Amino acid sequence: MIRQPIICVMGHVDHGKTTLLDKIRSTAIVAKEAGGITQHIGASEVPIEVIKKICSEMQNFSAESIKIPGLLFIDTPGHEAFTNLRRRGGSVADLAILVVDITKGFEPQTVEAIRILREYKTPFIVAANKIDMITGWINSKSKSLQTAMKQQNSQVIETLNKRVYEIVGKLGELGFSSDLYSNVTDFRQEISIVPVSAKTGEGVAELLMLATGLSQRFLEMKLNIEANGRGRGSILEKKEDRGLGFVIDVILYEGTLHVNDTIAFATSEGKVETTKIKALLKPKPLSEIRDSNSKFNYLDKVSAASGVRIGANNLDYAMPGSPVIQVVDDSYAKEISSEIGSVFATSKVGVILK
Ligand code: GDP
Repeated sequence: MIRQPIICVMGHVDHGKTTLLDKIRSTAIVAKEAGGITQHIGASEVPIEVIKKICSEMQNFSAESIKIPGLLFIDTPGHEAFTNLRRRGGSVADLAILVVDITKGFEPQTVEAIRILREYKTPFIVAANKIDMITGWINSKSKSLQTAMKQQNSQVIETLNKRVYEIVGKLGELGFSSDLYSNVTDFRQEISIVPVSAKTGEGVAELLMLATGLSQRFLEMKLNIEANGRGRGSILEKKEDRGLGFVIDVILYEGTLHVNDTIAFATSEGKVETTKIKALLKPKPLSEIRDSNSKFNYLDKVSAASGVRIGANNLDYAMPGSPVIQVVDDSYAKEISSEIGSVFATSKVGVILK
């Protein structure tokens, strides 16, 4: 089974990460007859049918070869969410979108994000944001940059190109080869830059098309999982729920978890703990929340890629950033220890594993 790639949005504060995620979500909701958006815990899924619909006005989007079921966007943008979502040898995020405000260019957190992406070997796309702020920009009311560019005058096109090539220059200084997405011929070697406006939505179609195409072509092996295999995920957050006590919000990137499965995770005290899943929760669709007391659906099982809330005993000290592994034999302790060994090694508090 091929799962959805998990995508994290990164970039300097105020460059438009939150606005871009909101625009992607609202664009998908507008395409609701094609399936809209599926809300997860801590993540939003744009199904492939919706992406096809949003990209339908674009030429050169070949939908036939696409097998991935959609894109799963982590709702919290930023470096912290990305680095907290650890999996062995990297991040749970398969792909990142690096947002750069074209009116400002690179800023310290842009460079920091690139350093992290390089360290985790995560492929990324640059969203050159706020193109609507270029003097003379005409809002085309389209989600496609191709369409929008046809309406701009030569001065605007010149300014946009200049800004894009400033980004190319900065990426070059950091050792990355990049180009405007439409000029890229080798997507493995070159980073694509997509001009977008998170405010008006222009370029969102190209961004979704590229994220889909790159995932399909270069990440297919990684995304090919055994549907019923051992559940593996990472703790995004621990919370207290009035009815359930402590719960953990988990991004599941492999396999399936069922109610009554035993899971293992690390605690903030540096121990490996196990517990039995009592409840698996996902948000209800908006339409159902209106006439219901609960915002959640209780599920029997959940499969990757997914954002899910887990209710169980023993979660009081569950540590965000810890792996969550379904216990199928007694190899889990070793696996968790070796995984959280690296977690503690990179965290500021040096806790000794017991
Ligand atoms: P974040 O800190 O990276 O999440 O940035 P936000 O999404 O909060 O955006 C920072 C500010 O930039 C807000 O006032 C947004 O309305 C504005 N903004 C974000 N994207 C765009 C855009 O594409 N065009 C314009 N004109 N403003 C934008």
